[in-house]
Amino acid sequence: MQIYNKNQKLIAENINPDVSISNWKSWGWQIKHSIKDIATFENLLNIEFDQNLRKQFDETIKKFPISITPYYLSLIDPDDYENDPIFKQSFPSPSELIINKSEINDPLSEDEDSPVPGITHRYPDRVLFHISNVCSMYCRHCTRKRKVGDKDSIPDKNEILMGTEYIQNTPSVRDVLLSGGDPLMLPDEYLDWILTELNAIPHVEIVRIGTRMPVVLPYRITDELVEMLKKHHPLWINTHFNHPREITNSSSEALRKLADAGIPLGNQTVLLSGVNDCPRIMKKLVHKLVQNRVRPYYLYQCDLSEGLSHFRTPVGKGIEIIESLIGHTSGFAVPTYVIDAPGGGGKIPVMPNYLISWSTNKVILRNYEGVITAYKEPDEYKPIFCDRDCDNCKLQLKLEPADEYKFIGIEKLLSDFDQTESLVPENTERMGRREDE
Ligand SMILES: *Cc1c(COP(=O)(O)O)cnc(C)c1O
Repeated sequence: MQIYNKNQKLIAENINPDVSISNWKSWGWQIKHSIKDIATFENLLNIEFDQNLRKQFDETIKKFPISITPYYLSLIDPDDYENDPIFKQSFPSPSELIINKSEINDPLSEDEDSPVPGITHRYPDRVLFHISNVCSMYCRHCTRKRKVGDKDSIPDKNEILMGTEYIQNTPSVRDVLLSGGDPLMLPDEYLDWILTELNAIPHVEIVRIGTRMPVVLPYRITDELVEMLKKHHPLWINTHFNHPREITNSSSEALRKLADAGIPLGNQTVLLSGVNDCPRIMKKLVHKLVQNRVRPYYLYQCDLSEGLSHFRTPVGKGIEIIESLIGHTSGFAVPTYVIDAPGGGGKIPVMPNYLISWSTNKVILRNYEGVITAYKEPDEYKPIFCDRDCDNCKLQLKLEPADEYKFIGIEKLLSDFDQTESLVPENTERMGRREDE
């Protein structure tokens, strides 16, 4: 029997002595044999926890269940599992039960920004559409940890249609992000149907899928799946690698198939204490990603979801990592570091500072080496007054329809024709005092 490596062979035969390589590589088989309890985990990796510890693990999975695909399990090094990045992302830690005060059940207020079940509409032109409540592997650092294992079901067609109807009736939505759960847990035909429904909506310009399958179950990326996805261009896929060790031959093969099908690939990494909070690990990760034609997209500061305190790093760690990448390596290998604002403010980019001073005609910048430099600004620049009358402007847009009149947020303060001078949060004490006068 030919199985990729010794570890995989042992695990596969332990699950079923008659296993074949085609079983191992079948995603259905992998999901069916996902590890859902501590004893099976111990047995398959030949590890024995002490009684006390096992009790704590059992307590933890009562609140936050466990599920690990045999494939992902096989990436754990049993000889040094305690520090293993795969182990830490997939195996429960009793620290998950420590809920600290700053943590919130739904830190991103996704449930509040939901106009219909399944849709989170936060930004002007794009929505998050939850089309699956299931995952093949339960990431311990999941931002939607509150929901993991809750309702292991796939929304039925009526539920999906509520979402597509909302999108249909909301012409400002040009970008639909399919998420979950993991959308690739759906059968090909069902996903095909959803994508067809979305393609039929004229104002939907692009669809993206967020999936961790290339990481935790690369065998899900079958030729049939890829043939189906290809019919629905322009389609983008974002995946979620957190550590260079997750990029195996099997995941490379999955990424190759997707890239060959013309699907632009991105990656979202979560900064996790004890897993990837190291500039060298991150640099290796982004290099391996671009080698596999995956563009590092976001590096997330760990959310304030309950049970994640042991994973959280200071923001300075993320800045230090970005500092070690910008200028040091290919520009397109550098992700944008973001904090998803608690309360539903959306993703806010944070960066090291490169603009260190400014006068009326010069900006002072520093580069990655510490070189400090002056950039001389133009002596004469004739700004074009913008009243959004694009048809009569010297700058040619000449695109129909050019009728975007609404300004949002900071854009409003920068604009020529909107008279707003400041954005003031509502209900501040200061404003309250004014009203009293
Ligand atoms: C992340 C996110 C998006 C997509 O944001 P991009 O910056 O365009 O990738 C859309 N909606 C919600 C609710 C999100 O959290």
